[in-house]
Amino acid sequence: MSPRGWALVTLAGLTVALLVTVAVFIPWHRPPAPRADQLAALRDLPADQVARGREFRAALRPGSYAGLAVGLLIALALGLTPLGSRLVELVGRPFGGHWIAQAVLGGLAVVLVADLLTLPFSAWRQTVLTRYGLSTNGWSGWAVDLLKSYAVSAVIGAVALFGFYLVIRLAPRWWWALGAAGAALLVMLLSFVLPVLVEPVFNKFTPMEQGALRTELMSMAARDGVPVRDVLVADASRRTTAVNAYVSGLGPTRRVVVYDTLLREATPAEVTAVVAHELGHAKDSDVAVGTLIGALGTAAAVVALYLLGSWGPLLRLAGVDTIAHPRAFPLVIALVTVAGLVATPVQALVSRRVEARADAHALALTGDPASFESMQRRLGTVNLGDPDPPRWEYLYSASHPSTVERMAAARAYAREARR
Ligand SMILES: [Zn+2]
Repeated sequence: MSPRGWALVTLAGLTVALLVTVAVFIPWHRPPAPRADQLAALRDLPADQVARGREFRAALRPGSYAGLAVGLLIALALGLTPLGSRLVELVGRPFGGHWIAQAVLGGLAVVLVADLLTLPFSAWRQTVLTRYGLSTNGWSGWAVDLLKSYAVSAVIGAVALFGFYLVIRLAPRWWWALGAAGAALLVMLLSFVLPVLVEPVFNKFTPMEQGALRTELMSMAARDGVPVRDVLVADASRRTTAVNAYVSGLGPTRRVVVYDTLLREATPAEVTAVVAHELGHAKDSDVAVGTLIGALGTAAAVVALYLLGSWGPLLRLAGVDTIAHPRAFPLVIALVTVAGLVATPVQALVSRRVEARADAHALALTGDPASFESMQRRLGTVNLGDPDPPRWEYLYSASHPSTVERMAAARAYAREARR
């Protein structure tokens, strides 16, 4: 069989593995709380709070969707016309067109051009956040964060670009197989090291101070059978007034992190409800499953890229002879951008299912639906969320169930518990 035939077989195998993983590990069977309960929860929220959340989300919307649209147009302009390949050539010229210069510097230049052209939309977002009092870092802090994230992306991007085009040179016929394996490994490696290598670039993490709350959280984790070495507090207040918590990392790098803003704003019982939700993620290995899905998806994307990359009309548009050359990298970015926009609602759907399971875990573990509900209300108030966002937006991009869904889930749990 030819490499192309093997690639088709591999893509089919990866697709099946992806579908099986998503079918087995994502909790599809749990129905959402009835809409009537959600509407009742909505009516219980103060009208001015709901209005302010909606006003804030509406203020963000034009900038974020225009940013998405412009990002897509730039990716298509660079990838589906010879513009991008010329840019790669131009950047490589001072180095005699050496492939490493074209691959690494040319590749980073393409990404940087797209980033810079969508920068006004990020700045717009920052003005809205500042106007509504959610941002605390000012323009200098915003710029420093931006430069840090460019630097982190440049390091990771340079390694990935060099590795990818090196593999292509070493195995011109089978690069897609090695590239797919390498990309999957990179996803797993990043999931493992990001919490210890990258998160500290943006925030300081300190163990939660000793006291009644920490003791309660550690004993709850022990009761839950989830070994947690520590609960870490992030200095999120340097950047935002928003409250949040999350779990990241795998195995030895796994950690539960709460924002310092959460400890400041919420009652101890509410913090307990949040940490119980995060323990749910840990207990169900949601980070590991997410990493596996990401690794399979990325590997499939590399193989699909190889197969699509032999399609003449696409290559002619980009002004290149083969997808395997660094000059075709803008075409790769264009395809990845389109795929990302198409995958967004699917990722959001999977995420919402996983988050709903973590909510159910929190309710069962704490047995305290009242605190869970008041926590949801507080999250909505402090973070200026729309408690019941427009359906299209919810379906396209919501990573979590809506506030009213989560409140209704707490009420359903309380009803069951009373029985
Ligand atoms: Zn969660």
